[in-house]
Amino acid sequence: MLQGLLKVDKEEQLPIKQKKSRLSLVHAHNRHQRPDVPPIQASPTTDAECREIITFLGAASNLSEMKNIWGFICEDADRRQRLKEIKDGCLYVNSDEYMRFFDETVEQPDPLHFIDMIEDSFFAFGAGGTCPHEGALPATSVGGDSVTPCNGEDGFADSTGECIKVTSLGTTPTINLKVYALDGLIGLDHDWETRMRDAHHAHEVGGESSLLDTHEAEAESVGDVEGTDIRSARVIMDFVICNPSRYTRHRASYGQLQRQLTLLNQAYSGQYPCHSPTVDTGFRFAMGRISHVVDNQCKRPCTVRNKALERHVPRENGKIKVIICDTGNGPWGESDFAYEQGTRMLVLNPKVLPYGSRRDMNQGAVLMHELGHYLGLFHHWQHRCGGGDNVDDTPNMANPKYDCGWRQTGCGSWQDGSNFMGYAPPTCLCAFTQGQVNRMWQQTGRYTRDLLP
Ligand SMILES: [Zn+2]
Repeated sequence: MLQGLLKVDKEEQLPIKQKKSRLSLVHAHNRHQRPDVPPIQASPTTDAECREIITFLGAASNLSEMKNIWGFICEDADRRQRLKEIKDGCLYVNSDEYMRFFDETVEQPDPLHFIDMIEDSFFAFGAGGTCPHEGALPATSVGGDSVTPCNGEDGFADSTGECIKVTSLGTTPTINLKVYALDGLIGLDHDWETRMRDAHHAHEVGGESSLLDTHEAEAESVGDVEGTDIRSARVIMDFVICNPSRYTRHRASYGQLQRQLTLLNQAYSGQYPCHSPTVDTGFRFAMGRISHVVDNQCKRPCTVRNKALERHVPRENGKIKVIICDTGNGPWGESDFAYEQGTRMLVLNPKVLPYGSRRDMNQGAVLMHELGHYLGLFHHWQHRCGGGDNVDDTPNMANPKYDCGWRQTGCGSWQDGSNFMGYAPPTCLCAFTQGQVNRMWQQTGRYTRDLLP
């Protein structure tokens, strides 16, 4: 056992799991289903208002995640016009500590739903310029969710009636916005909240072993196998299109899947059009079987956490099997890691396939990212500034960034947003680094040797 433990060296640190004893989600009474893409607003937030809010959030020490999200919305005029005007009122901002739990739980969230999140955390002033946490009655946000203030404390109630506290950060200089940091999360999309509750429950009941435990066990079970010298493989990819009933048919045609594989092979062979350097991973993917199944377990939001789906993709040597099902508003896709040897599941939302209905996301990049996880890659922010993604030639990041272009990582460096393992829009994603490729082969050699020739 000691040998097994010793193999977990610094190179191999695993994702840090936040151990929250409380979920700290503000309870929303009348959350309503939002449209897939938020509509254009008659009075949207202006560019100047955006910049004032971003500057204000940037001055606080624990709101960097929401600052990044504002950056994503504000950098693009079309996105900004979908956000109702945020001024003359009270804005509650999710603090980094809780957004990190969100990051670790919700893979590839649909970032357009951050617009809903902001609208559901913004309230018009009450009588005398008061904010809803100071009152006694439930208040309705600009987005339409209703929340209940705590009794005698500054904050909002969670679903058990406990108080989630708020801290005043002051008022913005010109748009008269009172800003409060929240010791929890407000305005989450319904699908996201479902995932976070499931993850929290699994942790609480102890039904889910920690990643480190799993890793140690697996490191031992593969004995002395430390990697492989092989640097090319052709892997068969099966697609299973899973519908919850005979009356819901996800669109995933042969043409779409074939196009997805073509793009995947371009990306993994380093031939994707890219302004920054990229490399050939050595992996190639070939079309396997396409099948259709009907199973209520594939109802929205379908997830790799639901191990009942495994029966549709039984493990088969040399193959990767993708389940296409409605993952909701996030994750767009989701994958087990290579070292999770028990199951090898990968789910993908049909909307993000090539020619899929989400035009801003249908460039095939979601599968490229998820397959990166499947082959052993982490996000650059997995260990935050203290190790990033266990790869030397990618910059560590403090938290995910959703916008394109050069940006600060929050760890004293810059990053250009082109790496497939980031969360930039698909149009910016085009590169893997040599370090990532080395890690893919090392992880494949250790944990998924059946994919090797
Ligand atoms: Zn990811």
